Amino acid sequence: MPLRCVFCGTPTDRSEGRICSGCRRDLPWIESACARCAEPLAIGLPRGVLCVACQARPSPIETTVAPLLYEFPVDAGLKALKFGRRLHYAPAFSEVLVAQMRRFPADIDALLPVPLHWRRQAFRGFNQALELCRPLARHSALPIMTGIARRRATPFQSGLAAVQRRKNLRRAFVVRRTPGFRHVLIVDDVVTTGETTRQLAMALIRRGVKKVSVLAVARAA
Ligand SMILES: [Zn+2]
Ligand SMILES: [Zn+2]
Repeated sequence: MPLRCVFCGTPTDRSEGRICSGCRRDLPWIESACARCAEPLAIGLPRGVLCVACQARPSPIETTVAPLLYEFPVDAGLKALKFGRRLHYAPAFSEVLVAQMRRFPADIDALLPVPLHWRRQAFRGFNQALELCRPLARHSALPIMTGIARRRATPFQSGLAAVQRRKNLRRAFVVRRTPGFRHVLIVDDVVTTGETTRQLAMALIRRGVKKVSVLAVARAA
């Protein structure tokens, strides 16, 4: 059985994987982005430049890579994965993540899918970040970190003001153990304000992790 493109349904060859070359070319790739928070920047700026907000305040995160804009068809695909249980999107988007691994230094020693609160995970039946992480772990031979809990179900973040979001997320993660990991790569589907990953990074650093980076499929502008 040949693979089919998740976006247009045409059969793909082995080198294309689960996204055909035409659809891959048409995806909303971000040309220039802040190295710390992945916020899109003016096209033509060199890699490694920080946005104004990241220049102004320290961050527990070394590098964020989120290569796609959270726009059609990426948003539709990620929503179908999360809310429509269309799990075949996970290995397709994971191919996008695998291709970005070369942008991180070789000292990364663990992957951490952003945990869901147990109640939300039970309702959904899976954690989309873990589904994205699994092929990445196989490809990179890095372990997937476990033992991190989300303390309470945070209300859906999208409708909340920034201050309220931050309040909701404070101490939202409980890190039980970080068995000697020095540079952890957090994996998520979409980075919005970056507050979730920032809180998770701080929880890891409090437990002795030295460096934290983030890899997501998409960045909401
Ligand atoms: Zn296609
Ligand atoms: Zn930034």
